[in-house]
Amino acid sequence: MSSDHDLQRIGANLREIRARIAAAAQAAGRNAAEVSLVAVAKTHAADAVEAALAAGQAVFGENRVQEAAAKYPPLRSSHPMLELHLIGPLQTNKVKEAVALFDVIQTVDREKLARALATEMARQGKRPRLYVQVNIGEEPQKAGIPPREADAFIRLCREELGLALEGMMCIPPAGAAPAPYFALLREIAIRNRLAGLSMGMSEDFEIAVRLGATLVRVGSAIFGSRPKTATEST
Ligand SMILES: *Cc1c(COP(=O)(O)O)cnc(C)c1O
Repeated sequence: MSSDHDLQRIGANLREIRARIAAAAQAAGRNAAEVSLVAVAKTHAADAVEAALAAGQAVFGENRVQEAAAKYPPLRSSHPMLELHLIGPLQTNKVKEAVALFDVIQTVDREKLARALATEMARQGKRPRLYVQVNIGEEPQKAGIPPREADAFIRLCREELGLALEGMMCIPPAGAAPAPYFALLREIAIRNRLAGLSMGMSEDFEIAVRLGATLVRVGSAIFGSRPKTATEST
């Protein structure tokens, strides 16, 4: 839930984040229009999403299928422009629901999941945009394909499964300087001819924009702090 105070601040926070993205893009000689802001509303109720929609934000991220399934269908009918991204781990038994619900799935990270997505996308005739998640810091507890396996996994997705990938996503190790990890993700994306780069969160999105991010995923700097949970993926 969001406090009234948090709700009142959402519009102003969004304006500030957009200005900071534009400044970071300009400083890097990039066009700010190349960078999309994904507002990560996980743990926050639908009223927080509505406040962001009222402030002109259309792109949202969630890390759990069940939470998104409860929150967004009612909002979509009044906001057809709404674009929903899955940024958390996807279990194969939730693939059907995820394909139906999300416009973008940023967490394609293993063969079994890629196969299930290919099958389900064909069945539903719906093609969410796909990002491969890379475990860029090779952390045992974190989801994502290891960097050294990324090229082969991308080839499998494209050539064997016929999946049209849009980009790559990563979450650098907490507490480490993120720039080398962002640079590594960009290097993997470039050599695989993937244009989309989803990287950067509340604490480091300006660095990510400087290093080529096309999607930044910002939660707490827009919606306020979240209760810490054991399932937090960061
Ligand atoms: C929660 C989350 C974010 C947003 O984190 P903030 O630090 O609140 O901006 C971004 N990406 C992923 C994958 C997340 O789980």
